[in-house]
Amino acid sequence: MTSSAQPVTSLTDSFGRVHTSLRISVTDRCNIRCFYCMPAGNVTFAPREQLLTFEEITRLVRVLAAAGVRDVRLTGGEPLVRRDLDRLVAMLASVEGISDLALTTNGLLLPQQAESLRRAGLRRLNISLDTLNEAVFQQITRRQGVARVLAGIDAAIDAGFDQIRLNALAIRDLTESELEPLVEFAASRGLTLRFIEYMPLDADRQWQPDRVLGGDEILRRLRRRFGELRPVPPPQPSQPARDYELVDWPVTPQGRGVDDGRPRPLPRVGLIRPVTEPFCGACDRLRLTAEGTIRNCLFSDAEWDLRGHLRGGASDEAILNEVAQAVRAKAAGHLISQIGFATPQRAMFQIGG
Ligand code: SAM
Ligand code: SF4
Repeated sequence: MTSSAQPVTSLTDSFGRVHTSLRISVTDRCNIRCFYCMPAGNVTFAPREQLLTFEEITRLVRVLAAAGVRDVRLTGGEPLVRRDLDRLVAMLASVEGISDLALTTNGLLLPQQAESLRRAGLRRLNISLDTLNEAVFQQITRRQGVARVLAGIDAAIDAGFDQIRLNALAIRDLTESELEPLVEFAASRGLTLRFIEYMPLDADRQWQPDRVLGGDEILRRLRRRFGELRPVPPPQPSQPARDYELVDWPVTPQGRGVDDGRPRPLPRVGLIRPVTEPFCGACDRLRLTAEGTIRNCLFSDAEWDLRGHLRGGASDEAILNEVAQAVRAKAAGHLISQIGFATPQRAMFQIGG
């Protein structure tokens, strides 16, 4: 931006979408190898010196908060493998203007870290849990560990987060049998569960449209098992998930699974349908990769380098202007399932999910 240009006060793209939400990848490393994200072996990770420092991340968040960013979610790779993550959480929790600080994790390290993250100021957690079955877990992650994830969920509940959600990737010929047990597991703990459609972001490029277990089919199956699923109006139009209340719960012989006798709100289950019902029209998200580039969409290869600016002595204004360029360049939407769609060059773990 030249000094005569208008200062950037909001991150609005050419379709009028205002960007208030930032996903920050804090590492591309992970302690498991989900086939829909990472390659099985020979993974090339970014050299450590290329990762943004906590101070650099915090400066960026401060700059973006001044232009209207309100929600920050930490992700990766697996964010909990980044050393001293609770220190970053504390730094971000004190940035003026950030009203929502959340984190997405595979849960494996929560038994050790849930409490310190909560104490540092983290309010909300999403924990990924595709299955309760160890054999299926190993097929997905190429590692062992479902019991550890479940222990991580318990540790998070004990730590007293304001909100914990479970995310389950739904994959045809692999996780159909997991849908109902996962709903029962989540509902019995008072947690919202969301099913996510499988997107073409796997490093091995094995994604095929017929592996996507679509939202309509998931709903049909859940209605068959649980009865009425009543749609809940989304609190904001930009929320990608469509949530439903399990009106007829409890349906299991054991009852609700909560035994303190207090009345509970009806359990909820949600669908995130990026493939069969894209939500690009209301997208308000930006993504910061672990190496400090901004992306305006999971499915666009364009990236704007902020690390160079940060390490080259750029002003806050120059950094914000770079982000504003990324926002202005955002396309109307991605084209998954349409002619012309090209799989992005970087896989999910390198972008930040
Ligand atoms: N490691 C953490 C985890 O697994 O929760 C955070 C990063 S992970 C990339 C974030 C989310 O992206 C997870 O819920 C994961 O299931 C989801 N994800 C990964 N690859 C995906 C794909 N190809 N399609 C849809 N969701 C995907
Ligand atoms: Fe790791 Fe999350 Fe990717 Fe699985 S989805 S390999 S847990 S980063």
